[in-house]
Amino acid sequence: MVKLAPQLKPAIFLDRDGVLNKDVGYVYRLEDLVVLGGVVESLTKLKVKGFLLIVVTNQSGVARGKFDLSAVSLFNSQLEKEIARQGGPVIDGFYVCPHHPEGIVEAFKKRCDCRKPSPGLILQAAKEHSIDLKKSWMIGDKDSDVQCAKNAGVRAILAQSEKYPQTIKSVDVALDLKDALKYIV
Ligand SMILES: [Mg+2]
Ligand SMILES: [Zn+2]
Repeated sequence: MVKLAPQLKPAIFLDRDGVLNKDVGYVYRLEDLVVLGGVVESLTKLKVKGFLLIVVTNQSGVARGKFDLSAVSLFNSQLEKEIARQGGPVIDGFYVCPHHPEGIVEAFKKRCDCRKPSPGLILQAAKEHSIDLKKSWMIGDKDSDVQCAKNAGVRAILAQSEKYPQTIKSVDVALDLKDALKYIV
């Protein structure tokens, strides 16, 4: 029997802080977990349309010694639980960059290829989930998210937050995740 190559699937790559949950800066405390308005219904719509939901997040707070990897995992699983509790879908994957070149935790102080705008997290997810990058999108609230998408070869939507007014002009702009869906579905 010839083993068939897996069918490639489209995905939505989602920045976490400022797109799914409120960004209070170095988010890791469970009490700071607030799922933003419109997120649950938007994720449900995307899932129904056949997109995988993949979170790609820079967490340099790990390299900076503000919290550790287990705190990131705990926050991510709590975020997933909260989305499910509100009737939303399963998140297909969480991909985290814990590095920073100026970190203080030796193990994570480095110039990596996974910190956005580098495309490492998207490329890793694409490999592990058989994702068709050409049919996929990245939604983020920073220029680095948009640049990461461009570097990985996926389309980008900038969901602008007030916290980080952005400067990249050559990109579709939305108010938030819910508004970003107008470009996709
Ligand atoms: Mg963000
Ligand atoms: Zn990294």
